[in-house]
Parts: sequence; structure tokens; C-alpha cells
Amino acid sequence: MMKVSPEILSLVPYQPGKPISETKRELGLTEVIKLASNECPFGPSPKVMRAIEEALQELHRYPDGAAFEMKQAAAKYYGVSEKTVSFGNGSNELIDFLIRIYCDTNDQILTSKGAFIAYKISAQVARVQTIETPLKKNYGFDIPAMVQALKTNPKVRLVFLPNPNNPTGAHVTQNEFSQLVDAVNERGDVLLVLDEAYLEFVRAKDYPDGQKAFAENKNICLLRTMSKVFGLAGLRVGFLIAHPEVTDLIHRVRNPFNVNSIAQAAAVAVMNDREFINKVKETTWEGLDYYTDELKKMGLDFVPSQGNFVFFDTGRDAGEVFNACLKKGIIMRPLKNYGFTTQLRLSVGLMEENRAAIKALHEVLA
Ligand code: PMP
Repeated sequence: MMKVSPEILSLVPYQPGKPISETKRELGLTEVIKLASNECPFGPSPKVMRAIEEALQELHRYPDGAAFEMKQAAAKYYGVSEKTVSFGNGSNELIDFLIRIYCDTNDQILTSKGAFIAYKISAQVARVQTIETPLKKNYGFDIPAMVQALKTNPKVRLVFLPNPNNPTGAHVTQNEFSQLVDAVNERGDVLLVLDEAYLEFVRAKDYPDGQKAFAENKNICLLRTMSKVFGLAGLRVGFLIAHPEVTDLIHRVRNPFNVNSIAQAAAVAVMNDREFINKVKETTWEGLDYYTDELKKMGLDFVPSQGNFVFFDTGRDAGEVFNACLKKGIIMRPLKNYGFTTQLRLSVGLMEENRAAIKALHEVLA
């Protein structure tokens, strides 16, 4: 028998949102609305479709391994130097790279309970232990506890801070963030990974400027994704903005063609389509405001969200609510894998989809 380590044997695969096709097949439904994966509900930008058509002509060629144009477009879009930009097959791949680069099996990563679960899964794959500080009652991160954990755990190499967090939508404030940055700088041997997957949706006035912090501190890097506001979840593109030494290491570790040619062309096109990006943002805010109004009316406890989704407490077994909504053709996101047994996450969709989701929820909870 081949030997397999306990870390691998005890892995629980990441549970993505339930696909539309599977739901239709299993429940015999013809109309299904998926609000389970924080995707962009508008379809891809028309400029992306045209760029992909053009890129199809070159499918017989390998992609540009250096992703020259995509890197330039990202540097321009984010207003940073190209030397600080590396890319992954989704930002998920970059999470993997960072752990492989900076952590030996004796090392640890630090994050919070209730934080995006991919950090912990990637760490476990690399036989790296995850230290998690507890969540506060309001589902926010306990930053003083994270600061303390940095002091008492010298083996921590990476701190993963999703801001805002998925699945809760809660954000770390400027003030809290500064405390964490100070603690990271005090250590000097730790990299703070600020995961800003939902950056474009943020409206909170006290949200910290990650890019400014990155410019001022060598120990901070920023994760960005093309999967949310940019509407390219299916193509898998993420960026890491990091100091050139970190960027150089990512380029050494990644596979030569980790972002395919269609994805590269699409990413360039969408980053040049401000009109599309603004439309997605504004419609998302409208939907999110609708959700929060409705949840308030229903008397359900929810977290004010800085993302394109809302996390709420059903006040009963969330699995049952999830299944009942599924039968009505609405796919929400159960969060049992995070240890949340009465809460669900609901992504913002098109306005008519949002209305259908709230209607289903009303009926199920009545
Ligand atoms: N970070 C956060 C906080 C996320 O919510 C997600 C997607 N669910 C990711 C990273 C990964 O995104 P992707 O791999 O699609 O870029």
C-alpha cells in the first residue's frame, strides 16, 4: 500500500456552490437561480466576448507565459509597477503558491475562524498548521487576538486577512488594520496577505487603503481576483500585488502557462471596460440594499456586508432552509463547513433574481 500522510487523508474537499445543471437534474426543475458563489450575474462584458473570439484564432499556440499584456493591464488598472504583479489560475492558486514558498511543514499560517476557508485547505495540503483566532459576536475578526497570536506563535509565517471577509461580508477597519500591520512589522519575518477579492464593492468609510499600506510596508501583499466584479470566474484569473522579491518567487514557483490564453485576453478586455465594472458595482449595491431592507423586515439577524453577498441567520437549521429554497429553484450557500449551522450566504444577483430569492425565503420561513 502507498503511504499517504494524515493531513492528506483528513482533507475535506472545498465545497463550491451547487451548480445549476446539477440542481435541475436532481430536482427536475427547469428554472433555477444560482446565488451561491458570489459571481457576477450579468454575464461577461461584451468586450470580453469579442476579445475571446479573436483569441480563439491562436488556440493552437501556447499562451504568453509571461502574460505581458495582462500584467501591463493589471499594473495600469491598479496603478502599481509591473514588477509587483504576478498572476494565478484564480487567486486561489496564488494562496497555494504563497504557502508553498514561505512555509515549511513546521511553520504555521494565521487567520481567523470564519475566514475564507481556502487558506486552511491550502495549508493542510502543504502539511502546514493553521492557527485561527476566534470570531467576535458580530462575526468580525478579533484583531487584538490576532496581534497576540503573532506574539505567541513564532512559527507563523503568513497572515491571511480577507477584507471584506467571505462568507460573512464583515470588514476590518482602518484602525484595526493598523494594529495588525504594526504587529506584522514588529515581527519582521511575517508576510501579511490582504485578500481584497471584493474590493470594488466596498462602501464603508473606515475601510483601510490596502494599496497605501502595501506601498509603505514591505511585509504586505495584496490578492485580487477577476472572478467577482469583473465577471470572469469561469476563466480563473487572480493577481498578487507584492514587493518584487515576492513577485520573483511566485514566477519561479508557478507553472509556465498557469493562466491560459483565452483568460489572458479576457482579463485585458474587462480591465479596459470601466463602464461594465461600474454597472456591476452599482447594480450590486442596489441588490444588496434591497436584501438588507428585506432581511430587516423579516427580523433576521445579518452582517452588514461590504461584498456582493449577505450572510444572515435563519434562526433554525440552515440545511433545511437551504433545501427548501433549493426545491423552489433558488440555490443559496450553506456554510456548515465553516461551522455555521443556522446561517446562510446569499449572493446578489439580477434584481428579479434577488426578488425571487427573498420570496422563496419568506415562504420557507413562514
Ligand atoms: N478570496 C476570497 C475572499 C474569495 O471569496 C474567493 C472566491 N470565493 C477567492 C479568494 C478566490 O477567488 P478566485 O480563485 O476565483 O480568484
